[in-house]
Parts: sequence; structure tokens; C-alpha cells
Amino acid sequence: MQNQAMVMTDVRKFELCNVSMPEVGTDELGIAVKSVGICGSDMHFYEGKAFSIFPNSLPFVLGHEAAGVVYQVGENVKDFQVGDRVAIEPGVPCGKCAFCESGRYNLCPDVVFLATPPVEGALKRYIKYPAFKTYRLPDNLSMTEGALLEPLSVGIHAAQRSGVTIGKTVAILGGGCIGLCTLLAAKAWGASRIIVCDLFDSHLNKALALGATDTVNSGTQNTVEQIMKLTGGAGVDIVFETAGSPVTAAQTSHIVGRGGTIVMVGNIMPDVPFSFRNLYKKEAEVRAVFRYCNTYPIALQAVASGRIDVKRIVSASYPFEQAQQAFDHAVDDKVNCVKAVITME
Ligand SMILES: [Zn+2]
Ligand SMILES: [Zn+2]
Repeated sequence: MQNQAMVMTDVRKFELCNVSMPEVGTDELGIAVKSVGICGSDMHFYEGKAFSIFPNSLPFVLGHEAAGVVYQVGENVKDFQVGDRVAIEPGVPCGKCAFCESGRYNLCPDVVFLATPPVEGALKRYIKYPAFKTYRLPDNLSMTEGALLEPLSVGIHAAQRSGVTIGKTVAILGGGCIGLCTLLAAKAWGASRIIVCDLFDSHLNKALALGATDTVNSGTQNTVEQIMKLTGGAGVDIVFETAGSPVTAAQTSHIVGRGGTIVMVGNIMPDVPFSFRNLYKKEAEVRAVFRYCNTYPIALQAVASGRIDVKRIVSASYPFEQAQQAFDHAVDDKVNCVKAVITME
């Protein structure tokens, strides 16, 4: 078996390199990777925008949304077999700190996360992975659906943190991959009205197809005015900020309703002018979402049962050898590309 990695050697440049086979440890699985989703953070890296946080990190391997087939089982691992189809959860927490003990392991200060320097990602033919963060896929889940459990986990964690229940009115600011995953989760949790706002009609049409009840084009319409109009002046019960933009972040306190909840999902880098007076008057609250925890079993069941059809967010698929084209497409055509995936035969 010859391992290969798609190595990022420069900004917007990949090289397919022969690399050694992983040395599978006693508590690990050897996995032949079959599907990898391209995430916003991968694109950020590919465009060279992450070098301010991770200087001197090239050459590097991207990809943290992955599924594959087990080809080797570590000697301490009891519940997996060669041939199992699996998805991996890309964060491996320490398992010992107070946050891990409390179940909020996404807050573990020692978490090791795939494709976060110096930890290489999954754009390889073969990887090793700790068995305790690997999930066996039912037969009716495709490899790509397995990889998509990762972004779906973000949406599910956001929905759980928001307290969304049946009958609630929700606004989602941003209709990219994470916005759409949040939409799928909010819908599965019973939200009755889901308003999605985005700059691109292509994203809004996708949102409507996936169950949004209303859309607002934030490029041509005033988002705050439109949402207040759609809700008869009441605002929404829950606002999800998924665009990662200071503009949408500032809008959240204007559109949240009385007693409502704002959930910050996007990674917003600059400081944002924010009306705390709006929060005060409405006794609204703000909650943040950092990745996810305990969501993989839920995501897996939701997709397997047909409750959430996550594969519909995929807009393009490329073979492993064409990873560079896949990334170029994802970066250069954000209007049409909601989610690109890379597959290995
Ligand atoms: Zn991701
Ligand atoms: Zn920990």
C-alpha cells in the first residue's frame, strides 16, 4: 500500500506527494479515506489568509471533514473491524480536564484538531485515527454523508445551544454551508418559521429548497427592516449569526424579539459595535458556539433516519487527484459553490 497526501506547498498550490503509511497505535484505527469535505477554514488556509495565525506552517495537509473504510485495527480496539465504514470526529480532546469531564469537551484546552497546524489533515489516502472519536456508519449512509456529519454537527450544536423548539421563529444570517446546516437542524428541532438572509440568490434558493420559509437578499434589501416586516414588528425568537461578518453580528440585537436568544456561530475576527441596550430592553441573551460536542451520534441518527437530508448541501464533487480544481472552484465561485467534496475511489 502506497500512501499519498495532497500537500499544500504554497498559497493556492497543491502537490500530490508519496508519504509513508501511518503507524497505527494500539487504540487507533487505520482508515482508507474515501470522502473529504472542503470547509471554510480549509479555504481560508488555501488562500493564505490563515498565515497570520499560523506562520511558517507550509508544507501542510488540509481537510477535517472525513469518512473512510477501516483497513487496520489497533490491538486494544474491540468494537471495530476491518471493512467498517466510518466517519471521524476531527477534534480529539484530552479526556481528563474539567471540561472533558463535564462533557463540554469542545472547550478542552488541549484538544488536537485535524488540519490545524501542526496537526495535518485528512487529504491523504490513508490516515490513522483514535477509535474513540470514530463512528461506524450504517449501510444507508454514503461516505460523503459521513464526511458531512462534521458541518452538520456545527448546525446541531447551534440548534441545541439556541433552545429552538417546535413553533419557534428563527432567523439565520448567512446561507453558506454552516447557515444551511443550521437551517436543517433548526427545522429538525421543529422551528415553524425559518428566515434565511444572504447576499446571493443562489444560496437563498438552496435555503428555500431545504426548508426555509422566507428569505431576505441582504444585498438588495434592508435585512433588519425586512425581518421586522416579516414578523409583524415582533422580531424572531432565535437569531443565528453564521456569516462570520461584523455587519450581520451588529444586526442580531435589532432583529431578536423580546425574551429571544442570539446564537453566534460564525468566527468574527474584528470587534463589532453592538447595541447592548437592545438586549437590555428585550431581556434577550447571547450565546456562543465553538465547534460542537456530543453531536456525532445525533447527526448520524438524524441522517440515517431520513430526518435530515444533509447530502443536498453538496454542490460539487471532485476526485482526489483534482483537489486543486476543487479548492479553486470553492474559493473562486462562492456564489455557486455551497459545499465541494473530494472523493477517493
Ligand atoms: Zn468543517
Ligand atoms: Zn480536556
